[in-house]
Amino acid sequence: MRFFDYRDGALYAEDVPLADIAEAVGTPVYVYSRATLEHHYRVFKAAMGDLPVHICYAVKANTNRAVIATLAALGAGADTVSEGEIRRALHAGVPPEGIVFAGVGKTDQELAYAISVGVRQINIESASELNRIAKLAEQMGKVQHVCIRVNPDVGAGGHAKITTGKADNKFGVSFELAEELYGLADGLPGVEPVGLSVHIGSQIIDFAPMEKAYQKLADCVLRLRARGLKVTRLDLGGGLAATYDETVKGPDLAAYGAMVQRVVGHLDVELEFEPGRMIAANAGVLVSRAIVTKDNGGKSFLVVDAAMNDLIRPALYEAYHQMLPVKKADDHDNLAPLDVVGPVCETGDTFAEQRPMPAIAAGELLAFMSTGAYGFAMASTYNSRPLAAEVMVSGDQWQVVRPRQTYEEMFGMETLPDWLGNKT
Ligand SMILES: *Cc1c(COP(=O)(O)O)cnc(C)c1O
Repeated sequence: MRFFDYRDGALYAEDVPLADIAEAVGTPVYVYSRATLEHHYRVFKAAMGDLPVHICYAVKANTNRAVIATLAALGAGADTVSEGEIRRALHAGVPPEGIVFAGVGKTDQELAYAISVGVRQINIESASELNRIAKLAEQMGKVQHVCIRVNPDVGAGGHAKITTGKADNKFGVSFELAEELYGLADGLPGVEPVGLSVHIGSQIIDFAPMEKAYQKLADCVLRLRARGLKVTRLDLGGGLAATYDETVKGPDLAAYGAMVQRVVGHLDVELEFEPGRMIAANAGVLVSRAIVTKDNGGKSFLVVDAAMNDLIRPALYEAYHQMLPVKKADDHDNLAPLDVVGPVCETGDTFAEQRPMPAIAAGELLAFMSTGAYGFAMASTYNSRPLAAEVMVSGDQWQVVRPRQTYEEMFGMETLPDWLGNKT
């Protein structure tokens, strides 16, 4: 579901023509739809029915504070993987008791910060981490709630680089070690173990691997309880797919909710979820302008002013993004194969190869759809290209939520070493 549609041949974000935004702000520009963000949060929550759930939006998918704040206003917490993300979440109005801190390599500084602000929970990924958290918390006179992140040894997700739940991935610990750490944590003064967490991958449509993982989690809860240990929370992670290709059916949330109910609903635990992509992907588009068309080696190329530094998913994961002309041509349905590329000096800077597309002339606008997640969040200034502007739309209103980076902001902080003289 997304609130980006054609009206009289013009592509709109909710009630705002994308061309108006591009005209005012320039391109490339990310445009987010508040209604889409809210819709996805609400349908996810609704799919969980009466289960006691705490939904932590996975901030890394789209870290703009306007996005986090939009979701926080609906009651969402935040799933964070760095001190920076915790700070952003707090800044955006997520209370500390709504923030989960996860990640495979948390530094002492990050852990101390998380404990000091009183985050809801830290998900532990190793024995050393447990001991460091316990020590830091004890020094601060605090008791930190922790979950042990289990690696359930099931594969899931659309691409090897986004699979996180296999035994030979870097994430989590085995059930055996998790149970040992749980008992250990129970005996340490600085921490209180409250549950288990799992996150097996991303872009998941088939729930079978998730069900397998959740079942293993449920069995583990019973084993822990049999030892007299208290388990009050299960963090079931994120990873549900977003629909990138409108001809492919997305995950059935009602079926997901029913599966969760069936597998862990009887355990009398609070359930946490960490959806990122599923909430944000279709809530954003990247609007670019065509710079030039050219033919090379028998192929037609369209070079646009967005590049892999703005949107790296196609280069990194061979990801598919639908591309729509912002102004529908009269012969919109007359398609010809086109390579759509950015200006960066890498052949990998390719958004699509031989994609059947309507004709697009230089100067016209092209929207990359479903780029609200892992779009701007993964952007860089490679080739000294400024970070794109970000805009949020709500109904017929829109506002810049992050202006385009200036060149001064891009390299003004760099200094020359003394031996090159004091020229600035
Ligand atoms: C990345 C991540 C998520 C979010 O994944 P999505 O595929 O965007 O839903 C959730 N939890 C953890 C621990 C993650 O690392």
